[in-house]
Order: sequence, then C-alpha cells, then structure tokens
Amino acid sequence: MVSPFQVYRSTRSSDKQTYSFEDVVIQGLASDGGLFVPPEIPQVSQEVMFGKWAKLSFQDLQFEIMRLYVPQDEIPDADLKDIIARSYATFRSSDVTPVAKNVTGDKENLHVLELFHGPTYAFKDVALQFLGNLFEYFLQRTNKDLPPEQRKKITVVGATSGDTGSASIYGLRGKKDVSVFILYPTGRISPLQEEQMTVVPDKNVQTLSVQGTFDKCQDIVKAIFGDKEFNSRHNVGAVNSINWARILSQMTYYFYAYFQATSGKAEKLKFIVPSGNFGDMLAGYYAKKMGLPVEKLVIATNENDILDRFLKSGLYERSDEVASTFSPAMDILVSSNFERLLWYLALENLADGDTLKAGQIVNDWFQQLKTKGKFQVEKVIVENALKDFASDRVSNEETLATIKRIYEVSQKPQHYILDPHTAVGVTAAERLISSEKDASTHYVSLSTAHPAKFADAVNQALSSFDTYSFERDVLPEDLRKLSTMEKKIKLVDSADLKLIESIIDEESAKMGL
Ligand SMILES: *Cc1c(COP(=O)(O)O)cnc(C)c1O
Repeated sequence: MVSPFQVYRSTRSSDKQTYSFEDVVIQGLASDGGLFVPPEIPQVSQEVMFGKWAKLSFQDLQFEIMRLYVPQDEIPDADLKDIIARSYATFRSSDVTPVAKNVTGDKENLHVLELFHGPTYAFKDVALQFLGNLFEYFLQRTNKDLPPEQRKKITVVGATSGDTGSASIYGLRGKKDVSVFILYPTGRISPLQEEQMTVVPDKNVQTLSVQGTFDKCQDIVKAIFGDKEFNSRHNVGAVNSINWARILSQMTYYFYAYFQATSGKAEKLKFIVPSGNFGDMLAGYYAKKMGLPVEKLVIATNENDILDRFLKSGLYERSDEVASTFSPAMDILVSSNFERLLWYLALENLADGDTLKAGQIVNDWFQQLKTKGKFQVEKVIVENALKDFASDRVSNEETLATIKRIYEVSQKPQHYILDPHTAVGVTAAERLISSEKDASTHYVSLSTAHPAKFADAVNQALSSFDTYSFERDVLPEDLRKLSTMEKKIKLVDSADLKLIESIIDEESAKMGL
C-alpha cells in the first residue's frame, strides 16, 4: 500500500511549503519556527485493528503504523523492518513495552504501561533508539558513493539536567557519521545519571561536564545552534522531543497496550499520561484519531501545570519560573509539542479545512506567547479538546504519598514500586477511578521511568518501611555495575560559548569520523 501522506507541513506555514519524511526527521524544526505535521491522520478500520493488529508483536505493529506515515519510496519495507528490529532488540522485555495488569488488586482495573525497559531505563529510549537508527540510515544513503571528504556528517549537541541525556547518547552511540556532545552541569546531576552517560566507550560520544547551571548549558546549546559559521562546519543537529520521528515511534505502545489490557477486544479504556513536553501524550492523540477506541486521554501534570490550566480556561500562559519537583523530566514552562495539537484544533474549527489558515492562526498564537507570555483561544477550541482530553495536576506531596500507597497495597507477588513521574500519572488515575466507580473501564497509566533512576524521591517515600531496601528492591544489576566501570569525562572550566565550541572542534577531530 502506498501511503497518501507524502507531504508534511509546518504548524506555522503561511506558505505552501511541504516536506518529505527525511527532511522532517533531519531538520527537526521547520524554518518558520513551527513543528512538522502530517496534514491528514490516516484512518484504520476496526476490522484491521481488532482482526489483524491486535495479534501482532510490538515490532510488527510498529511497522504497520509507520507504513501509514512513511512513504515506501522514502524507506522500502525491508529497510523499515530492519530499522525497527534493530531499534527494539536493545530492550530487556520481549514485549518491548509490557503492561503490568491490575497492580493494586483485581477490582480497580488499574494497569501500568511500563515504558522503561530500554537501555537507559527511561521511556525516551522507545523513541531515541529508533531515531538514532533512522539518522544513520538516511546519512548512509546520502553518503553511499561519496569520497570520505564529501560525506555528510551530523554533530548532535544537547544539554541535560540529568535524566534525558543518556537516552540520546544510547540512541546515537556507534552510529556512522554522527557524533554526539552532551553538556551537563558539574556536580548537579546524580552519580547514577553521570555514570550512565560517561561509561559509554564509543568514540563518537563525548559528555562535557560544565562548571555552571543547567540553564547555562542550555543557553550554550542554543547559542551553538545560532552560530551560523560553526553550524555550517559541524552540521549541528538536535534530537529533542519535537522531532516527528519520536512522536511516530511512540504511537505503537498505545495500540499495543490497549490490546494487552483488553485481551484484544474493543472495551472502555482511558490512558493517563504524566506529561511535560507533551510528546508522549500527543502520540496517544494520533492513535485515538487513527481509530483506536480510547474513551479519554488524561493529561497528568506536576506543579508545572500549563496544560492543566489551559484545559480549564483556554488560556495558554507561561509561568515566570519553573517549579522544581520530584518529577524533573516534567519541569517545563511551555509544552513544546502542544503546538501540534493546537494546529489540529485550529484546523478542525475552520469550516473550509484550510491548512494554511490553521497555520496562520497558530503562528498568531505563538507570536502572542512570545511577546505577552500568553494567548487565549476561543471557547469552542477548548470544548473540542475536551472531547479527547481531560487533565489533572498533582503536587509533590501527592506524588510521594502515591509511591507509598501503591507499595503498601501491591504486595502480591511483590511490592510494586513507582518512580515519581509514574506516580504523578497514577495519582491522577486513582482520583479518576474513585470518582467514576466504573469497574468496566480499563485505566492504563503510563510508567515513564524505572524507580532506580530517581532514588531520592523513592527513598523518601519508602524508607519508613522496615521491609524496604533500595539496593535489593529497586536497583537493577546492570545499573549497580556502572559504578565499577571506567568513565570518560571531559571537564569544562566555565560555561563559555567559545571555549565549548573549541572543545567540540578539538574532540571532533580526535574522533576522526
Ligand atoms: C520526558 C519524560 C516525561 C515527559 O514526557 P513528555 O513527552 O515530555 O510529555 C515524563 N517522564 C519521564 C521520566 C521523562 O523522561
């Protein structure tokens, strides 16, 4: 089947520019500042879904879904299958994303979708393992018959406050013609996080431990992207959460988890998703719009609650300051992928379905966000959003209380231990379950990290139990081993743009790629 979705466009396009899948993946962000979207969302019949898809493995399901968005003439079947197979062979679970059913006993129908079985124990592996292979695939095709000096190369530069850098590194390690530099603030990430990133021996990977704050690191990465001369020399790339291929690869687990929870039947089901940049949740929106019969998508935020406030008021307003919470991967001021949903909502609200007009509306909203820090949408837009979404906000105290409660009630066959991000989702899910009292609905709450990655919060919640031991109950063997492995750390004395650029120059030359 040839996909009809040959063209992607920007959410802010006031012109008619369209992009191929490859452009979209390599470029990440459109030149007008917008995000890439497929204008139409492919429809899948209930027959195909419950007759065929419900029986497929994660990988085969991923292939069927991607085939609808990635044209054959850009990636032939055999190549796409190979990329998918390699991307998920690195996962520790044969289901890739297994569902832990009824974690609190049989009555509640609360299931936990475990997205943390990839190499870095975080949900971002699902997307970044795939994206790394895709980068390499496109580059190798471009470079196929070129002499070494003409080969196209990409230098990926990113900053991390601790938990997200390692997923990028493990996605890109050892990839041909790609090098990766990840900046992090010296002494401000946990030892485990530092170990995960710095024990990677591949020569195309270099972490930079920078004297300064995370914000400084991030400012430098932005400045590097803005440095035209440096950029043209290094072909600087990003793998951040707005990359379309990340959203695309995350759709699969919504289908797969639905089939696992309902044993392949169409039943009432709600997903609850701990959200920050809205990439995870947006993939669920695509799944629902493709025809997966999901009753509701529930956005769970921590105290950084711009999404929850929007759904209650139609006002999208950035706070002055980011709150520092137990779920740091969700500590955001604005939710970058939310722009894609806003584009579909704007489009839906136009009688003529004119995609260019939708782009102008979104562009106008984001100009207001830039100048005034906020914009207000019409009531009908929020009403339409509420057909698919609900939202809840969860405090720090509630997050810890939930880790504790789930530990207590889930004693058979063993205690179930949540990471704090997952606990934000489970808090919202339990609130919903007790208000709805509907035993016929499945509630699938997404688990985005292994608890070992957030030891402080988990220990704070559980250390009062005599029976609890972090070392024994939480820490997996291969993370325990990290502390004994050799580390490759490059210390950088100051958060200075020119200094860091010169280090990247120097280290790139040493990599000899
Ligand atoms: C990135 C991340 C999230 C938030 O996902 P978004 O797609 O940004 O909404 C939640 N939990 C963890 C552990 C994460 O790393």
